[in-house]
Amino acid sequence: MHQATLCVHGDPDERCTGDGVNTPIEPSSAFAYLDRPEPVYPRYFNTPNQTAVVARLCALEQAGAGLLFSSGMAAIAATLLALLRPGDHAVLQRDIYGGTHHFVTAQFTRLGIGYALVPGEPDALAAALTPQTRLLFLETPSNPLLGITDLAAVAALAREHGLLSVVDNTFASPLNQNPLALGCDAVVHSATKYLGGHSDLCLGALLADAPLVARVRATAIDYGGSVNAQTCHLLERSLKTLALRVERQNANAQALAEWLQQQPGIAAVHYPGLPGHPGHAVAARQMRGYGGMLSFELAPGAADPVAFQRRLRLVRPAVSLGGVESLISAPVLTSHAKVDPATRAALGIGERLLRLSVGIEAFADLRDDLAAALHG
Ligand code: PLP
Repeated sequence: MHQATLCVHGDPDERCTGDGVNTPIEPSSAFAYLDRPEPVYPRYFNTPNQTAVVARLCALEQAGAGLLFSSGMAAIAATLLALLRPGDHAVLQRDIYGGTHHFVTAQFTRLGIGYALVPGEPDALAAALTPQTRLLFLETPSNPLLGITDLAAVAALAREHGLLSVVDNTFASPLNQNPLALGCDAVVHSATKYLGGHSDLCLGALLADAPLVARVRATAIDYGGSVNAQTCHLLERSLKTLALRVERQNANAQALAEWLQQQPGIAAVHYPGLPGHPGHAVAARQMRGYGGMLSFELAPGAADPVAFQRRLRLVRPAVSLGGVESLISAPVLTSHAKVDPATRAALGIGERLLRLSVGIEAFADLRDDLAAALHG
């Protein structure tokens, strides 16, 4: 079945059996336990609303099992801490979400876990492996420069060395890219972004095969970080329109990236759908669409980045992404504020870089808003 159909129905054979077409919201945190194979409890990740959403996400990511967490970082932290032990080593792509970067640099050493943060090219990842390396962590397209990592090549590297490969698929969404189908072992999402899509919830997800998810679940139960039924319901409702939203966001982002490239005052545009983007060929191979995220650099001497954002009427300077409304932010002040300036500079994240999360508005209105702020 096509992704658009799976968004609406999930697996039709797994749909709830009541007369209503929606999964009923089951608010209980206490469930009958006699004669049941295992207790049901929100923090055990097995309530009816949690499992209904996970089933839909499994269909979209071609996964055997999954867990829903209270945030993307809860999903990432639980996954990494469950799969790594003291003495282990992980190789992570260095241009990952600033919060993940901070989590690794702030926590791993304290926990006795070694790590290397390196460029996402397979050669660089391979060069950083040690005999203790157990896991590769990737994010593609990456935040905020939209770098592209060749997931099939990384999955092959991981298999060759007996490592697990974990991919943050937040920017692409399952509509544009399925890392498990490319051979990777696990996918994490900040469901706060495209999956939720309305900037009104905070959730995370892990999708993988059943044994790997069972390993993470055992640890995640100790950490907490589960979600309630109402929030699950919000996400389930949002997933029904995911295909429509992403399709429009892909088209708007492509058109805006092409337009921005032509504008005086713009020094660079980072979008994998542009033929000049260094990751374009790989993105064309592994993605169905190039996504709704782009970033651009204001030329020196052109608009001041903060003044530019203040001049926008429609696009809102706000922290987050993936919603129906277009949002803009300066990574040095937001997603990468916690990354030290030297590392930021090495990553190519400068003061004049702006990240745009393109929404579902009419393209012409977005273009006119950006034009007025740029030239006004
Ligand atoms: N991964 C990416 C790519 C993100 O952009 C974010 C948040 O911005 C996260 C993970 C963390 O998600 P959350 O804010 O839901 O914890």
